[in-house]
Amino acid sequence: MSTAVQGLASRDLRARVVAACSRMVIDDLSRGTSGNISARVNGGMLITPSGVPYAEIEPGMLMVVALDGTVLDSDGRQRVSTEWRLHARVLERRPDVNAIVHTHSPCATALACLRRPIPAFHYMVAAAGGADIPCTPYATFGTDELAGHAADALAGRNACLLANHGVVAVGRDVETALALAAEIETLAHQYTLALQAGEPVLLTTAQMNEALRAFAEYRK
Ligand SMILES: [Zn+2]
Repeated sequence: MSTAVQGLASRDLRARVVAACSRMVIDDLSRGTSGNISARVNGGMLITPSGVPYAEIEPGMLMVVALDGTVLDSDGRQRVSTEWRLHARVLERRPDVNAIVHTHSPCATALACLRRPIPAFHYMVAAAGGADIPCTPYATFGTDELAGHAADALAGRNACLLANHGVVAVGRDVETALALAAEIETLAHQYTLALQAGEPVLLTTAQMNEALRAFAEYRK
């Protein structure tokens, strides 16, 4: 699968974003119109439109938007995603990231509403690139403030919770970001179940460092 940044959003990239939208619904990561997906293109990003149910999104409905919010390519009938600032800030701060998936998936959002980061209760937490999955401070949806919080949290991680809102996962391509969003939801579910049964035993720093090293090796 190509990971290169694409110029004018290609048909292939549009198809992959639409496929990710369908997968997000099938995997119950997003219901209705909540959440959004972007992929880096030359000059900006290809991003899902605002307010269109994922099951109805077609390749031509995706919009190419510059990182300053200027619409570069659109069918003229869609509105820009309310969270374009969040996607733009993260793409600016993380040149290694080519795709962003934002969802309100149920278990991750429940933890975000408790403003509870996901600690090292399971080695798979390392899939997000560190010893925990942080939770940002709260900010109103769609704002520069929220975009800044997300970009700060994702400076050292590939996923974070957004307080009283949802979750963001990033990756080198759309499929990787989506797979991580699904993994975070699974971890959030497991952590919630463990909390209901007792107090999860957290892995030590040394154990998590070993898991992180193993992940780095696995990804080579
Ligand atoms: Zn949202």
